[in-house]
Amino acid sequence: MKKTIEILKNYWGYASFRPLQEEIINEVIEGRDVLALMPTGGGKSLTYQVPALLLNGVCIVVSPLIALIKDQVEDLRSRKLNAHYIVSGMDYKEIDRILDNCIYGDVDFLYVSPERLKNELFLERYKRMTISLIAVDEAHCISQWGYDFRPSYLEIAAIRSFHPKTPILALTASATPDVVDDIQKRLAFSKKNLLSTSFNRENLHYVVVREENKRERILKGLKTRPGSGIIYVRSRKLTRELASWLQHMGVKAAAYHAGLDPEHKDRIQAQWKKEEIRIMVATNAFGMGIDKANVRTVIHYELPDSIEAYFQEAGRAGRDGLRAYAIMLYNDLDKRLVKEKIENSFPSIEVIKKVYSGIANYYKLAHGSGINQNFTFDIIAISERTNLKVIDVFNSIKILERSGYFQLSDSLHKPSRLKIKVSQSDLYYFEVANPKFENLLKTLLRSYSGLFDSYVNINEHLISRRLGIDVKEFMDHLMYLNKIEVIEYLPANDKPQITFLLERLPEDRIRIDYESYGALKERQLKRCDDMLTYVETARCRNIQLLEYFGEQNTKKCGKCDVCLESTSDSAEIELKLKELLIHKKLSFDTILQELKVKNEKIIIDLLRKYADEGLIRKEENDLWAWN
Ligand code: ADP
Repeated sequence: MKKTIEILKNYWGYASFRPLQEEIINEVIEGRDVLALMPTGGGKSLTYQVPALLLNGVCIVVSPLIALIKDQVEDLRSRKLNAHYIVSGMDYKEIDRILDNCIYGDVDFLYVSPERLKNELFLERYKRMTISLIAVDEAHCISQWGYDFRPSYLEIAAIRSFHPKTPILALTASATPDVVDDIQKRLAFSKKNLLSTSFNRENLHYVVVREENKRERILKGLKTRPGSGIIYVRSRKLTRELASWLQHMGVKAAAYHAGLDPEHKDRIQAQWKKEEIRIMVATNAFGMGIDKANVRTVIHYELPDSIEAYFQEAGRAGRDGLRAYAIMLYNDLDKRLVKEKIENSFPSIEVIKKVYSGIANYYKLAHGSGINQNFTFDIIAISERTNLKVIDVFNSIKILERSGYFQLSDSLHKPSRLKIKVSQSDLYYFEVANPKFENLLKTLLRSYSGLFDSYVNINEHLISRRLGIDVKEFMDHLMYLNKIEVIEYLPANDKPQITFLLERLPEDRIRIDYESYGALKERQLKRCDDMLTYVETARCRNIQLLEYFGEQNTKKCGKCDVCLESTSDSAEIELKLKELLIHKKLSFDTILQELKVKNEKIIIDLLRKYADEGLIRKEENDLWAWN
């Protein structure tokens, strides 16, 4: 068997493994289930990619994000490895071919989104594949205790039974001790096996600032701290507003959120990487899979929903190991808004049921029908048709999704595709009989090859320009030719898809279980409270974060706002205290008043310390005196 290090050098060109990578790889090679807990950027991908190349068979990688799946597959292919993906929205034939290749070909990696695991076509082929290992990316999504639970992840344990000896490697950058246990249980680990690196980030300065005028604060900070940055906000609207304000103030900034078209996203992301754009103002859609090491500042303009989310986002700063800042701005209004948002994200059961029926009616599904059917999902159209607020539709769908009624997938950009259905000679007769289409068809044939054999990606803008007509007219012609079955035309699709997982039920049979509603709400409120405790507690930020993730024996970082404030404060206080007590004896309350220090605890600690050191003493009348 080839050595792991050779694989690393040959395919990735890296000289050595990072901490823990080799240990994880060895566990997998020896057939043991492992949960790898490593911070973002730690190098998790290689821990399944390297063993996959050593073991026989296909490595199934379950990953929740289509964009990430595509990036990974492209990356592996660029290394001459045989990698494929299957995500919703793909053609049956395409999927069929890929699955066949996995059985008979020499596919190394098959990336799938979790909802695929239920699919009959997939399962039937999966049973016949040789599987090297199952890698579960973002494994915290399997836990209802986690901050990003996805019910389709629960299917993973079920597919294990077809290949019981195949090891599972679960990967996450974010898991509290409860979630760590839960992941291993839900993935049916044969034995508990956690390998984790510390989440301590030596070079990261955590700063929390209570601030009313956040914009000015940001501007000042960006002036004193050069380099690339990300500002996280919670709404798409705010990404635009803040980015244009920054531009106005002379900072090169762009707005990023999930609703932008894929080309635009790629473009601004590339510009940001090259530092033509300095600051990305983004929702949490920005980040997973971005690979920029020299981000100097990550600012949270609004409070995130959880410490897990915060830690992941903040952790995108300083992956090069150099000094970087994670700054959180908040005020009382934010504290109220995060709670309100949680309340609003749980519409009443009645509304949820209405949304369910509204959606089913929108797709014209009769009771008892619709199981496993897929539709393009347009939330605006649905809310208009059903007379329900977009926000209610959105939140109800999430709950219905968690209760197993349907599945929503990310939007997936597929270019328009076209194929000619008739033979060459039939096309010739058609053109003679319909001279109006002759130029259009000839231009298509001159522009693309292979149109008679299979689907070819086409660009409507390009061809309509060549024809000198507008796109709309060109597409209308294509639709017509499609209708009369001369061609098959599949226009581009950027919309998310909704899949009905059960047949349509009457409203009174819709059940929303406690786990998907009440318990979830409680947990979200708890996470929000934890986030608030973090910002409001004057205790080393690093210690707070590490303890949250279950680390023990943590040390003060000496770099966060709390550590810095207390050191500069304590030097100053020491001086003043001496001045005060050297001439007279004072009570604790008087000392507090004289020193005008907000944080009482600092004074108590200092007095205790000086008393221990013998600098001061407390007399019987409760007055403090200098020794
Ligand atoms: P994670 O999934 O943990 O966030 P990735 O797997 O995306 O991290 O890895 C982050 C970056 O580190 C990638 O660019 C990857 O190629 C690089 N990397 C991983 N392992 C090594 C290594 N042993 N030596 C050098 N670079 C590595």
